[in-house]
Amino acid sequence: MTASVLVLNAGSSSLKWDLFAAPAFSSLRSGMIERIGEKGGALDHAAALAAVLDELGEARPAVVGHRIVHGGRTFTGPALLDEAAIAEVERLVPLAPLHNPPALAGIRAVAERLPNVPQVGVFDTAFHQTMPEAAARYALPAWCEREHGVRRYGFHGTSHQYVSRVAGDYLQRTDGRDPVELNLVTLHLGNGCSAAAVAGGVCVDTSMGLTPLEGLVMGTRCGDLDPAAVTYLQRAAGLSAEEVDRLLNRESGLKGLCGENDVRRVLQRAAAGDADAELALDIYCRRIRKYVGAYAAVLGRLDGLVFTAGVGENAAEIRRRVCEPLAGFGVTLDAAANAARSGEVRRIDAGGPVAVLIVPTDEETEIARQAWSVAGGDLAAADA
Ligand code: ADP
Repeated sequence: MTASVLVLNAGSSSLKWDLFAAPAFSSLRSGMIERIGEKGGALDHAAALAAVLDELGEARPAVVGHRIVHGGRTFTGPALLDEAAIAEVERLVPLAPLHNPPALAGIRAVAERLPNVPQVGVFDTAFHQTMPEAAARYALPAWCEREHGVRRYGFHGTSHQYVSRVAGDYLQRTDGRDPVELNLVTLHLGNGCSAAAVAGGVCVDTSMGLTPLEGLVMGTRCGDLDPAAVTYLQRAAGLSAEEVDRLLNRESGLKGLCGENDVRRVLQRAAAGDADAELALDIYCRRIRKYVGAYAAVLGRLDGLVFTAGVGENAAEIRRRVCEPLAGFGVTLDAAANAARSGEVRRIDAGGPVAVLIVPTDEETEIARQAWSVAGGDLAAADA
């Protein structure tokens, strides 16, 4: 029987799972259990995992990889989840109160049901931990960081890492470029959106910060905002801390601007002449361009721009609105290549100095690959 890696992505009320053959990392099966803890759904994450294992039948994974949102400064790469590592993920709960607890529930459930299977944590923050202090620190008094961990961690790291590596490999193959010399800006545009500046495969800056709220305009998150707006709204509109939190994370972004967080719908409405949708797109794309410009300055030279995730991979109109005004920075777009639909890695610039690429992201496979790299080698050795 071939070895397999089970990748678990636990949300507050869902458990997404993917089983991969190792070490080829081809997908064997996948599924999603929803409405955990809700009426008619699985009782808890342990029950959800039991359902996944029932579905897998005889197939028992050799390694389980968990997507974990917050790894703080501790986790700079994938980590074997021993007692100490689990305790550290627990210690980080205050930084990700909605996200780390379901991951922990998944880890505990696996420990109970598959006690001898090694578990590996793959962290959304890990890829960004190479950021220099100058990018990671806020201009706040040192105690804010020392006592409360207030610094920039970044998120979507697994995606930025994956697409920057794939883009580097692609440009090496097609153009003979040395990946170590490449300065890329990667744009993960999904429901959540973030940009990263990646020099030679190493992250040097990213747009999300202490939480995934900072940076680009997203489906329902505002991104960058004068922090004084928070205290101003609390006083002027009488909002509590929780209400402001909700406003900025769930009722803002594209949804706040035009009532719609699905980019497809926003594009349709803008095309039909809806002024709110048009303004929302303008703000969304302008923010992306500001980050591309900022990161070109951080990197000193821009060699490539990489679009990924639901919007980045599929929305030609968003790519056009981002790229066309950046002609002065060497960004060009081949209209036909941009409009073509494909699930492949592809280049869509018109031959300018900046390579513009679409790289479909694949966080699950990357988690499987990283989890196997930590725990699979030992298993292969033990088998031999
Ligand atoms: P998540 O961040 O939840 O992983 P995805 O990366 O799947 O999300 O991205 C979801 C977003 O992608 C949605 O806002 C959706 O509008 C957008 N999207 C998907 N397909 C298209 C498309 N063809 N055109 C424009 N936007 C699209």
